[in-house]
Amino acid sequence: MSLSESEIERYQRQLLVDGWDQEKLKRARVLIVGTGGLGGVSATYLAAAGVGHLRLCDRDTVERSNLNRQILFAADDIGRPKAALAAKKISRHNPEIQVEAIADALTESTARDLASGCDLIIDGLDNHSDRLILNKTACARHLPFVYGAVDEWMGQVSFFHPPQTACLACLLPRDISNRGPIPVYGAMPGVIGSLQATLALRYLLTGENPMTNTLLIFRSDTMNFESVSFEKRPECVVCGTS
Ligand SMILES: [Zn+2]
Repeated sequence: MSLSESEIERYQRQLLVDGWDQEKLKRARVLIVGTGGLGGVSATYLAAAGVGHLRLCDRDTVERSNLNRQILFAADDIGRPKAALAAKKISRHNPEIQVEAIADALTESTARDLASGCDLIIDGLDNHSDRLILNKTACARHLPFVYGAVDEWMGQVSFFHPPQTACLACLLPRDISNRGPIPVYGAMPGVIGSLQATLALRYLLTGENPMTNTLLIFRSDTMNFESVSFEKRPECVVCGTS
C-alpha cells in the first residue's frame, strides 16, 4: 500500500518523525466508541495522522449542553446525530481516509460487531458500565483498549491488552458512582483524548505499549501527572483466564 503524492504532501511533517510508518497507519482500522469530548478529540487526531479506517459509534444526538466540550459539533448541529456529524467533519479534514458512522446503542452484541476487523479500540465513553462492556469485547477479541476518563479537575488514561496486561475490570471492576452528570470542562477531555490518540498511534506504529499496568492520572488543580501501578487480578472474570 503506497502513498499518493497528496498523502506525501499532507503527512510531510510527521514522515520526518523517527520510526514513523505512514503505510502501516494507512492499513490500520480503529473503533472509537463515543464521539463527544474524549472521542471527538482522539478521532480528530487519528484522522489527521492518517489512520486509514475509523469506525465511529455514537447513538446520541447533539444537545446544547454538549457544546462546552464536544468540539466536533456546532450550535446549528443541535438535534442531529453525532456519529454522522463527526464522520462528516473528520472526512472534510482528511478525505484520504475512510470514516464509518454507526448510531447503534452499545451492548455486548453490538460491541462484538463494532470491533470486528479492527486493530484497536478507543474508549470515548462517558460512563463506566459501557466501558466495561467495551473492555469485555476487547479482551474477548484480544484487541488493545485505550481507556480514558475525566471527572471535574482530574483525568486518567491507560492501555489494556491482556494477557500482556491487566484489563479495565482488574482496575475498576464495578461502576460504584451513583450520581448525576459528571462535572467537566472541555479542556480536560482535550488533554485526555489527546493522550489516548498518542497511545493509539504509538501502538499502531510500533506495536509498543509504554504503560503496562499503569494508570496515568492528570490533576489540573495542581498540574501534576502521576503514574500509578496496578496488578492484574488472577480472579478477574474478564481477563483472568486469558
Ligand atoms: Zn481483568
